[in-house]
Amino acid sequence: MNQAPLRQDEAGTFGPLPVTSSIARSLRAMGYSQPTPVQERAIPVLREGKDVLAQAQTGTGKTAAFGIPLIETIDPAQRAIQAIILVPTRELCIQVADELSRLAANSGVRVVAVYGGVGMNRQIAGIRGGAQVLVGTPGRVEDLMARGLLRLNAVRFAVLDEADRMLDVGFLPPIERILGATPRERQTSLYSATLPDEVLGLARRQTRDPVTVAINPEQATVEAIDQRFQQVENADKLGALCSYLDDPSVYLALIFRRTTHRVDRTARDLSRRGYKVGALHGRRSQQQRERVLRDLKSGKLQALVATDIAARGLDIEGLTHVFNLDMPDTPETYVHRIGRTGRAGETGIAVTFHTAEEDKELLALKRHLNGEKRTQPAPKGNGGRRPRHPQSRQSPRPSRTGFRAR
Ligand code: AMP
Repeated sequence: MNQAPLRQDEAGTFGPLPVTSSIARSLRAMGYSQPTPVQERAIPVLREGKDVLAQAQTGTGKTAAFGIPLIETIDPAQRAIQAIILVPTRELCIQVADELSRLAANSGVRVVAVYGGVGMNRQIAGIRGGAQVLVGTPGRVEDLMARGLLRLNAVRFAVLDEADRMLDVGFLPPIERILGATPRERQTSLYSATLPDEVLGLARRQTRDPVTVAINPEQATVEAIDQRFQQVENADKLGALCSYLDDPSVYLALIFRRTTHRVDRTARDLSRRGYKVGALHGRRSQQQRERVLRDLKSGKLQALVATDIAARGLDIEGLTHVFNLDMPDTPETYVHRIGRTGRAGETGIAVTFHTAEEDKELLALKRHLNGEKRTQPAPKGNGGRRPRHPQSRQSPRPSRTGFRAR
C-alpha cells in the first residue's frame, strides 16, 4: 500500500526523519528529540507502505515507531476505525493508547482503548464518537464485534504488539479472526520480543513480504542495567530489601515475587513497616490494578510488589530499581523482569536475592546472561524498621519525558 509523501509545507523533523508539523509538535511536547533505533529503522519502511516484522520489545520506543507513520496517514475527517492495534494485556492497552493519544494530540486523530475487566459503555462511546485508532485486547475486540458494536471494514493498518506474548496466552485464534474481518488491502506490522515458530507462522499468514527489523532489545536493555546478586536466607529477605528501600536513590521500585500470596504478604509486611507500597497480581480487579499503577507512576508509592504479570510490557518511566525477591523461574523471565528498568536510554539497577539452595538456578541464569555478575553487599540501612528518609518522596521527580541524562 503506497502512502502519500509528506507535503513540504507541513514538514518538521525528528532527528534525521521528516515528520508532519503536528507530529513534530507532539514530539516536542513529549520530549522526544531523537528517534530510537527501532523508530529510525521502522518509520521509513512503514511510510513506504511495506509490512514489517520487528523483533523489538516494549522499552525500545516501538509504540512511536508504528504510531508516527500511522497517525500521519490516518484521515481525521473519516469517522471510522482505520487502524487496529492488538495487545496482550489491559495494562499495555492503556499504555499504548495513551502514547498514541499524545502523538495524535495535534492532528485531530482520536484513539480508543478497549479491554476487558471494565464496563463497555465508555469504550462503545469512544467508538461511536468517531475514533479512528483502536487499541484493544483480542477478547474484548471480539466481544464488541460479536455484538455488532465494532466494524473493521475501514481498517488500513493493523499492528500486532507483543505478538509472542499474545500467542503465549492463547490469543492466536481470535487474532486471526479479527484480522480476517479487516480488508486484505491493509498494512500489517508485527512486533515481538522473540520470534518463535508460532509467531513466524502468524507473520507468514498475515503479512505480505514483510521487511524484517531486528533490534537486539534484550541485549540493549540488559546492558543498561546494573545487575546485582545477593545471597540471603528466606527469613532475612525482607530485612535485606528494606535496607535498599531506605536508600533515597531507590526512587521507584518493582519487587517481584512468584505467587499472589507472597505478593500480598510482602506488600502487607512493607506497609506495616511504613513503606508506601502497592500490590499487583492477577487476582486484583482491573480498577485496583490501574489505581496502583497510577499511584506508582505519580510517585505516591515508592514500590510495587508484583507477580510476573508485571514482568513484560509494562513501562514505568523513571523506574530506578527492580528487586527479585524470589528468583524468576526462567532466564527469559529474568530478562523481562529486569527490563522494566533501564528503559529508553536510562540506566537502572536490578537486585536478585537468592538462597544458598538456589545455586543451580543462579548458575543457569548467569550462563544465560553470558558472564559472571557482581555480588554486591546491601547498602547500609536501618534493618528495615521505618524509612529513614520519608522526605525523599517529596524530592523533585526526575524528568518524565524523553531520555534522562545521568
Ligand atoms: P515503548 O517501547 O514504545 O514502550 O517506549 C518505551 C519508552 O520510551 C516510553 O516511555 C516512551 O515514552 C519512551 N520513548 C519512546 N521513543 C522515545 C524517543 N524517541 N525519545 C525518548 N523517549 C522515547
